Amino acid sequence: MTVKTRGIVLGQIPMRDQDKKLVILTEDMGLIEAIARKVNGGRSSLSAAAEVLAYSDFCLYAGKSGYVVNSADLNQNFYDLRMDLTKISLASYFCELTRFILPDRDNGGICLKLLLNTLWMLEKEKRSPSFLKAVYELRLLSVSGFAPDLSGCLRCGAEENLIFFPVDGTLFCPECVGVMPPDRPKIVLPQPVFLAMRYICEAPDEKIFSFRLNPDSERALESTAEYFTLCQTGGQFKSLDFYKSIR
Ligand SMILES: [Zn+2]
Repeated sequence: MTVKTRGIVLGQIPMRDQDKKLVILTEDMGLIEAIARKVNGGRSSLSAAAEVLAYSDFCLYAGKSGYVVNSADLNQNFYDLRMDLTKISLASYFCELTRFILPDRDNGGICLKLLLNTLWMLEKEKRSPSFLKAVYELRLLSVSGFAPDLSGCLRCGAEENLIFFPVDGTLFCPECVGVMPPDRPKIVLPQPVFLAMRYICEAPDEKIFSFRLNPDSERALESTAEYFTLCQTGGQFKSLDFYKSIR
């Protein structure tokens, strides 16, 4: 039986005989693995589609032991992005984080669209890497069941002078913060950062990049989004460590 799907390669696992197991984020099947035969030599027609970040229309054979790639038509390979160390490092982190989140049939299409849009913005330098990193992290988490509650102070509903608890994904105002244990990790949120976080999590798909912050707020947004991501995933991401080491 064969199935057709569209997706982007997030990772490769080398196998014997120049075969590779591809980790693919698909439009309609979530995250899947599929074996691509004889793609190490670079001459196979599948080789280009087997590269990490290659976005293709796949025809897969569904066998007893999983999917095997029959053929693939490459749509986009983000070539310019691969030529820049900062960009490719950040893109690698997006791939690693997305693999960790494990999109399924329900949110795979949303995650794919988010990733493609973010990679395009990164490749074309539409926004800074710091900005795109924060937007990608927050939006990916919020469409994957890790959305923070950004409606306001959890106790009184206040929407200013808020303190964010990244482990809980909740906000408290200074008057109500006493209900939380004093040693709980927390971040005082400047108002523009709070509003930006809320916007990223709630705006329609096509609007999520359409806001601006001053450099200080952008830095605060970046560190808050990263801290929240690490708290929520408990993740250790090698690609993130590398990205930060070259910044
Ligand atoms: Zn309050």
